[in-house]
Amino acid sequence: MSVLIYTEIAKGKVKKASLEAVNYGSRIAKQLNTTATAVVIGDADLADLGKAGATKVLKLKNDKLADLNGQYITAAIEQAATAEGSTVIVFAHDFTGKEVAPRLAAKLKAGIVAGAVDNPTISGDAFSVKKNVFSGKAVATYAITSPKKVISILPNSFPVELNGTVVDAVDFAVNLDAVNSPIKVKEVKKVTSELNLPDAELVVSAGRGMKGPENWGMIEELAKELGAATACSRPVADMHWRPHHEHVGQTGVAIRPNLYIAIGISGAIQHLAGVNGSKTIVVINSDKDSPFFKSADYGIVGDAFEVVPKLIAAVKNFKANKN
Ligand SMILES: Cc1cc2nc3c(=O)[nH]c(=O)nc-3n(C[C@H](O)[C@H](O)[C@H](O)COP(=O)(O)OP(=O)(O)OC[C@H]3O[C@@H](n4cnc5c(N)ncnc54)[C@H](O)[C@@H]3O)c2cc1C
Repeated sequence: MSVLIYTEIAKGKVKKASLEAVNYGSRIAKQLNTTATAVVIGDADLADLGKAGATKVLKLKNDKLADLNGQYITAAIEQAATAEGSTVIVFAHDFTGKEVAPRLAAKLKAGIVAGAVDNPTISGDAFSVKKNVFSGKAVATYAITSPKKVISILPNSFPVELNGTVVDAVDFAVNLDAVNSPIKVKEVKKVTSELNLPDAELVVSAGRGMKGPENWGMIEELAKELGAATACSRPVADMHWRPHHEHVGQTGVAIRPNLYIAIGISGAIQHLAGVNGSKTIVVINSDKDSPFFKSADYGIVGDAFEVVPKLIAAVKNFKANKN
């Protein structure tokens, strides 16, 4: 028995969502009195994996894994899980977690909870795991009673704790000859933005109220001054005002930053589904009856074209007088 945690690297470092998964998996491992093994693809600074609680780190090795093909990744994790005797496999509920965790659960005949938001309650062989349902309007508790269990955890559900000790990574060769994937990766385009949206603590987001892509300069400037990532509503991405990886909501990226500033966004339920886990929500909208104000911690009723430049000036002024 052991707990296996799939982790990813970006820009030479382990992703924040993966460190959250390692924290989560290591807490389960401690309760089960077993090891927490982190698995990773690629080369990077892996010191944080041990610090986050991994007691063992395996680097999955096979040239085919460079393809980011979910079927290869699933097979590789399955081999690592078998070698480690893992009964619990943890993922971050990010792009890879959403694709690979259900495939792995099906292969292992494991019960799965996708998008957990709390540590499981463990009673004998059964885990009780909480997750958000109905677009974040309610929380459901699921029992996983199968011998093997797969859990993906919603990013930003827990703060990252790095108080463990560094462990050396060990290579783990996987054999993917038997995996005949019908999917061929033709091209990988890297997102060039400085901040990864799901990892961002601060997010400045804007919607159709901005009238057109030519007006995004002030959104980017506010985000830059705050050290925030930028996001948008779905119609904005659909109209190609902004790239699709910035679209947040039910059909887009789900985020839970400490601060979410929504500018000229109405607050439709499908948008809220991806952002209502944010710790603090600030809404700027010219319509005092905009539904988004019901979910806001702070609201400014006003024209974005007047309010945002004033906010930028206020942030600049604050920073200038801080030191
Ligand atoms: C199946 C399904 C899935 C969907 N998934 C998503 C999703 O994942 N994410 C998502 O965002 N949407 C999603 N939608 C669409 C969603 O229902 C809304 O249509 C969308 O969120 C509206 O985007 P918006 O608020 O930018 O635009 P609008 O609804 O047009 O709202 C614009 C807002 O800007 C305000 N405004 C206008 N001018 C100004 C100004 N000068 N200053 C300040 N405020 C101003 C207006 O008062 C209004 O509140 C989905 C819909 C469906 C049916």
